[in-house]
Amino acid sequence: MVVVGKAEVCAIDGCGAEAVRSLSVQRLSGTSMKVRPGSKKATLCREHYKRFKKETRGDRRLEQDRYRSPGASR
Ligand SMILES: [Zn+2]
Repeated sequence: MVVVGKAEVCAIDGCGAEAVRSLSVQRLSGTSMKVRPGSKKATLCREHYKRFKKETRGDRRLEQDRYRSPGASR
C-alpha cells in the first residue's frame, strides 16, 4: 500500500529535514536555494523557510499580502 500522507521532507538539495512549508518551485527562483531535480513543490524545512523569507524580503511582488502577521497559520 502506498502511503501518501507521510511527513514531507525539505526539497532543498542536500537537506532532509522535516518540511513545514510548501511553496511552488518558481518562488525559489530568486533565491540561492535549489530544490532537488524533479520536485514539483518546494517543501521547506524551518531553516530553509527562514532563509527563504530572508532572501525574498523586500520583494513584495512575490508575497503580496500572504503573510502579514508572522506566526499566524492563515
Ligand atoms: Zn531544508
